[in-house]
Amino acid sequence: MAEQKRDYYEVLGVDRNADDATLKKAYRQLAKKYHPDMHPGDKEAEAKFKEASEAYAVLSDAEKRRQYDQFGHAAFDGGAGGAGGFDFSGMDFSDIFGDIFGDFFGGGARRTSNGPMKGSNIRTSIRIKFEEAVFGCEKEIELTLKDECPTCKGSGAKPGTSKKTCPKCGGKGKIVVTQQSLFGMMQNVTTCPDCNGTGQIIEEKCSDCRGTGYIAKKKRIQVSIPAGIDNGQCVRIREKGEPGINGGPRGDLLVEVRVAPSDKFERSGYDVYSIAPISFAQAALGGEVIIETLDGRVSYEVTPGTQTNTRIRLKGKGVPSLRNANARGDQYVTLVVQVPTSMNAAAKEALRTFDENCGNTLKEGGVQVRQEKKRKGFRDKLKDL
Ligand SMILES: [Zn+2]
Ligand SMILES: [Zn+2]
Repeated sequence: MAEQKRDYYEVLGVDRNADDATLKKAYRQLAKKYHPDMHPGDKEAEAKFKEASEAYAVLSDAEKRRQYDQFGHAAFDGGAGGAGGFDFSGMDFSDIFGDIFGDFFGGGARRTSNGPMKGSNIRTSIRIKFEEAVFGCEKEIELTLKDECPTCKGSGAKPGTSKKTCPKCGGKGKIVVTQQSLFGMMQNVTTCPDCNGTGQIIEEKCSDCRGTGYIAKKKRIQVSIPAGIDNGQCVRIREKGEPGINGGPRGDLLVEVRVAPSDKFERSGYDVYSIAPISFAQAALGGEVIIETLDGRVSYEVTPGTQTNTRIRLKGKGVPSLRNANARGDQYVTLVVQVPTSMNAAAKEALRTFDENCGNTLKEGGVQVRQEKKRKGFRDKLKDL
């Protein structure tokens, strides 16, 4: 087994004289690359991760490194023997893992220190109208937020009483637990569950907050929704999340925006799509038509002989960009020629005359067939296009 193993320095890709910082940096890179959480079910990545972790575990420990430099892998043969032939017991990975993965896994989760920590983020959502998303709006939401209990000032202890040292962890806030892991049995340092890492236990709880140190308070919060926001995007409001721990700042409030669909416009990025009906005469002869835009109605000059389903572009009539409100997308309008469904005798007569002049003979039945095609809704039409 010993012969098959790669040299620890080679595994980490460092020089034999590498200092601690270099080792840590090399391991950090490999661990990021091969961490099992990033490659679920990938045995090769898992093996690489394990190999790098083992190498780092040995080389980062001055005594183990000395033994390894002297005896090579034989130094650890016949030891207590974890799954990989290496004894990981007593190793504290939480320190380096917290360091490496803090930014990957939401931070805090692996932290065992009881220094100031930012509170957790809170997520909520808000429904707004299509036009409100386009042009931005101010909204107010009501939310129940945790606040420091004014009676005990967040300590959770009844005023006049004090806290005592946690007997489970002896005031350290951390305990060592033995777990089955992919390295075999491994000892891990985790936050003490009795005192939640504070190292102290409340003897007599504050009656106002029942010892939690927090009270729930309903709050009204202003949400500024920027112009151009799209369905599913979030507005971040700094420091309106859960309270910080040990004097750390509050977490953030993330408000997800749900935009109601419009019955006039369909949005794609910063462009909008719509349909405008035009009469048969307008299509044939050309002339001014009124088109609905996000800014209201505008007039548009149709060229003579416009066919149905002709798409025109109204430049700058789309949605403002989130980054620059002066930069707007475009509006694409599909002109749909309307075939009349009810006509008076004079109109019918005029149409027959028209048709005869065009060299056709229009039958009543022909009109009926065209009516069927017209019965489609706005969304069906968009789909067809
Ligand atoms: Zn209290
Ligand atoms: Zn404790």
